[in-house]
Amino acid sequence: MTIESFDATLAHTNRVSPTTLEFQFVRNDAKPVLYLPGQFFRFTFDAEGESFERSYSIATHGQTPGSNSNLDLLISYVEGGKASEYLFKAEPGINCSAKGPFGNLLVPRALPRRLIMVATSVGIAPYLPMLTQLKPLLQNGSLNVELVFGVRSRQEFLYASMLQEYAASHPRFNLSVCYSRQKRSAEWTFERAGYVQSRLLEMELDPAGDHVLLCGNPAMIDATFSMLVAKGFGVSNVIREKYVFARETALVPPQKLSDEQKKLIAEKLLKFRKDP
Ligand SMILES: Cc1cc2nc3c(=O)[nH]c(=O)nc-3n(C[C@H](O)[C@H](O)[C@H](O)COP(=O)(O)OP(=O)(O)OC[C@H]3O[C@@H](n4cnc5c(N)ncnc54)[C@H](O)[C@@H]3O)c2cc1C
Repeated sequence: MTIESFDATLAHTNRVSPTTLEFQFVRNDAKPVLYLPGQFFRFTFDAEGESFERSYSIATHGQTPGSNSNLDLLISYVEGGKASEYLFKAEPGINCSAKGPFGNLLVPRALPRRLIMVATSVGIAPYLPMLTQLKPLLQNGSLNVELVFGVRSRQEFLYASMLQEYAASHPRFNLSVCYSRQKRSAEWTFERAGYVQSRLLEMELDPAGDHVLLCGNPAMIDATFSMLVAKGFGVSNVIREKYVFARETALVPPQKLSDEQKKLIAEKLLKFRKDP
C-alpha cells in the first residue's frame, strides 16, 4: 500500500475509560484514509513551538478501511508524556500531520487454522478494525479466532460490551480477558486471573496451525514471544508490535528571527568573511 502524508484536524474525542480516550482526526483534503486493519500511522503534532512525532494504530470499528476520511485512534494517558499532556487537553480543531500506513500486524493472506490475537491494554486498538474484516471469515467457517486481552482490572476492560456481543454472535471467536490485579468472577466464563501467558498455556498451542499476533506492552510481548519460541513458534508465525515509548524526532526552528538575532548573525558573517 502506498505511504501517504497529509494534514488532519481533530473532529472529536470520546472517553472510553478513566485513562483512555478515542480521538477522531479527519483528513483535511477529504480523501479516504487507506490502510489494512492492524496498521498504524505516524503523527506529527506541534505544541508550544515544538514538533514531535508519535505512532498510533488505527482503531476504527464497524467500518471498512477506505470508506471515509477518518483516523480513529485509541490513546491511553501516560503521566507526564508529551503527547498525552497535549492530546488529553486538546480541543476539536487542532491540526496534525499524518504519514502511513505502516506495520505488518495483519490477518495473514494464507489463513491459518487458528488466529490468536493477544493484546494488553490499549494494544487492543489494531484488532478493532480486524473484527470487521474477520466477520465473513468467521461466518463462513474459514477461521477460528482467539482474542486474549490482558488488563489490570475489570474497570480497564475496554469495549467490554462490544467484545462480549461480538463473541456471542460468532461461535468461532473466543474471548478471554485476563486481569493481572483482580480476581475473576464465577459468573463470566471468559474472565481469567493472571497474565495473558497463563491463558495461552491453557490452549493447545500448535505451531503448525496457529498464527499469533502480539500487541501492546513490550514486556508482555517479550515474555510471550519467549514462551511461544519454547513451544516451537518463530518469527514467521508470531508477529509482534511493541508500543515502545516514542522519542522526540524533531525540533521546529524559530519561525521568525528577532532584529537582535539578525544583527548577531550579520556580525558573525562579517567576521567570518574578514578572517580567512
Ligand atoms: C507502532 C506503535 C503504535 C502505537 N499505537 C498506540 C496506540 O494505538 N495507542 C496508544 O495509546 N499508544 C500507542 N503507541 C505508543 C505512543 O506512540 C506513545 O509512545 C504514547 O502515547 C506515549 O507518548 P507520550 O508522548 O504521552 O509519552 P512520552 O513523552 O513518550 O513518554 C513520557 C514518559 O513516560 C514513559 N512512558 C511512555 N509511555 C508509557 C507507558 N505506556 N507506560 C508507562 N510509561 C510510559 C516514558 O518512558 C517517558 O519517561 C504506539 C507506539 C508504537 C511504536
